[in-house]
Amino acid sequence: MTDPITCPECGGQRGQQLGPLFLACLFCGGTGMVGGDNEPLSRCEKPPPPPPTATNHPIWADPATAKAFPCRLCLGSHQVTSIDEVAGTLVMVPCRCVES
Ligand SMILES: [Zn+2]
Ligand SMILES: [Zn+2]
Repeated sequence: MTDPITCPECGGQRGQQLGPLFLACLFCGGTGMVGGDNEPLSRCEKPPPPPPTATNHPIWADPATAKAFPCRLCLGSHQVTSIDEVAGTLVMVPCRCVES
């Protein structure tokens, strides 16, 4: 057990804002902290589910997969799920690829 520290991956920001999307940091699991009760090593036994729209997912390294979808955020549906932090609900919002 170590003292909790600010996550070095996200700098305590708990993730990355991508347009209307907020991707939870995979290193700290979206908590902004590592160590203590949030030890990355102990979490290996129970990895958190990946965020629903992880654009850096290894699947996109496959050229066939990347070509099959015009937009890797919405997969061509032009809508993406976003967390409305005020209401605490998941909402559908137009994808970034629609704005242009
Ligand atoms: Zn982090
Ligand atoms: Zn899109």
